[in-house]
Amino acid sequence: MQRYFALPDHFTEQEVTIVGDDVHHIVNVMRAREGEEIFVSDGAGRSAVARLVYLSAKEVRATVVEMLAEQRELPIRVTIGQGLPKGDKMEWILQKGTELGAYSFFPFSSERTIVKLDAKKEAKKLERWRKIVKEAAEQSHRSVLPQLLPPVSFREALEAGEQYTRRAIAYEKEGGASLHHVLSDMQADDSLLVLIGPEGGFSPEEVAQAEAKGFLSVSLGPRILRTETASQYVLSCASYQFERITPAPRQV
Ligand code: SAM
Repeated sequence: MQRYFALPDHFTEQEVTIVGDDVHHIVNVMRAREGEEIFVSDGAGRSAVARLVYLSAKEVRATVVEMLAEQRELPIRVTIGQGLPKGDKMEWILQKGTELGAYSFFPFSSERTIVKLDAKKEAKKLERWRKIVKEAAEQSHRSVLPQLLPPVSFREALEAGEQYTRRAIAYEKEGGASLHHVLSDMQADDSLLVLIGPEGGFSPEEVAQAEAKGFLSVSLGPRILRTETASQYVLSCASYQFERITPAPRQV
């Protein structure tokens, strides 16, 4: 059964309405018919099996057959602040980070980021990146559609830190706390922001500024990870820490 996201306002426990690009996919690509069933999530944690009752070029409506009690979301909400990487690495980071349960992402520019995005390029990139996140969320059967916020400066990334239960800056220099130290001090529904440096890393001054703003500088283990690997390590550790003990019964 295909899986789609409906806007939260278009999702009730009786009926869901799908609009936008997915209508074309349902009507023209899947050539779905009334009576067929699909999975629908509201992107904010609710999912259901729904039966198609109305299909048009503009919208698809379905009645809810069963609300699902899926446990596919990380118990803590992990946001990845990613130093803008070169090339198409951001697409990989977003796709794998979504599969691994990231709650949200935002790119940032810092002293050593090479990539500069002008307004036009940024809008185009955000549109493509959000499509990748949505497709990865559908493929991994998530009920939350991770948010991808627009790029910010390093200073704005530090300012954003106070909205989170815990905040960390991944720094490979010796002496940092372990990521486990941060995760083991958290509980379900807490939120965590982790800043990952670009290919050139963070300057010592940037790490000092982050620490002054309450960020803990954490090690991601004894090896130097590529920028696109680092966030996957963080999310895998969060999954292991919070989902390994008694994984909730999975809906298949
Ligand atoms: N300084 C690195 C080097 O010598 O190659 C360059 C930065 S690394 C490629 C990109 C980012 O990944 C770093 O800024 C850091 O945020 C994160 N990172 C990579 N390995 C790490 C580790 N072992 N501990 C903490 N952070 C790490």
